[in-house]
Amino acid sequence: MIDVNTAGEVWIFAEQRDGQLADTPLELLSKGRELADKLGVKLAAVLAGHNVSGLSAQLGHNGADKVYLVEDPLLEHYQTNPFAKVLDELIRKHRPQIVLYGATPVGRDLAPRVASSMKAGLTADCTDLQIGDHEVKKTGTVYKNLLFQIRPAFGGNIIATIINFDRWPQMATVREGVMPMPEPDTRRKAEIVREKATLSGRDLPIEILRQEIQERKVNLKASRVIVAGGAGVGSKENFKLIYELAHSLGAAPGATRAAVDLGFVDRDHQVGQTGTTVRPSLYIAVGISGAIQHQAGMSESKKIIAINSDPEAPIFNLAHYKVVGDLNTVVPMMIKAIREKV
Ligand code: FAD
Repeated sequence: MIDVNTAGEVWIFAEQRDGQLADTPLELLSKGRELADKLGVKLAAVLAGHNVSGLSAQLGHNGADKVYLVEDPLLEHYQTNPFAKVLDELIRKHRPQIVLYGATPVGRDLAPRVASSMKAGLTADCTDLQIGDHEVKKTGTVYKNLLFQIRPAFGGNIIATIINFDRWPQMATVREGVMPMPEPDTRRKAEIVREKATLSGRDLPIEILRQEIQERKVNLKASRVIVAGGAGVGSKENFKLIYELAHSLGAAPGATRAAVDLGFVDRDHQVGQTGTTVRPSLYIAVGISGAIQHQAGMSESKKIIAINSDPEAPIFNLAHYKVVGDLNTVVPMMIKAIREKV
């Protein structure tokens, strides 16, 4: 834990693998920029790895004022201990007021370790972040310009706002895909601050012999059109209808958790609170009731078409175009109409 430092910077952890930045740090920079501007402080990225300095320019283009660059051969591959040590040392030295991590496998591993070593607070899986004041009713004490860490709670049935007014820095992991990507501005340049890590072989308890990376089967986040199927599709066999409609539109096939749990489709396709968050131009929801946990992952879609046999299905409250009918009739009609057009 560090002392409350209201003049401290806003930091994001710049996750990279094999010298390539993930999408998440860029998304974090867009939110971080907003928070830093509101607080009137600098936005910095922490970039750690081996031979990664080339990524600093990209971080600058996407909104960072500063890059804390830590290069060391021992940081070539991500491991919890050395990366947590780097963050811990940098935070104690520079005392940022906010540190954000992506809620990726790496961020979910790293952030709790840093929080625990620093005895600081951490909110996992935030879907929004704001700056605001908080008054403690009992004492009348007002804490100004705190980080409001906003996330679904109790199975997604409420949205909780969590604050941390004394166990600083204020830290949060942020869900992938919920913050828009900033438009890079190639004229922007970040100041590079080189830092040294005090690492030794003892900080690496694991020796990595070989890495095998299994790419996701579908890139939902990058798709402009998504056709998603739910439990209403009925079977794995019938899920072919979703693939077919998606294929005819050049779209990606998505799914609800119910469809995944029923074995209709692989987990990579899941949209929602515990799946991927998407914001495509068009989202076609087929046989999906529209549970709040599903909505959490797709409500930011620009246009939503819902096909459901139940006119009272909650998805219709969200949809711009509503088709009440049996998907087994509606979807083949759509496929036929699209094929006849092209
Ligand atoms: P259902 O709710 O069963 O809806 C099926 C729909 O299909 C119904 O509306 C029905 O009218 C319609 N239908 C049936 N037959 C037809 C037909 N022939 N033609 C047209 N329509 C038809 N869910 C997610 O999706 N993503 C998540 O990330 C997620 N995370 C969760 C996290 C937690 C902690 C919890 C507790 C739940 C989570 N869920 C998630 C599950 C969520 O609560 C719902 O159970 C799930 O979204 C329901 O999926 P569904 O709409 O496919 O199924």
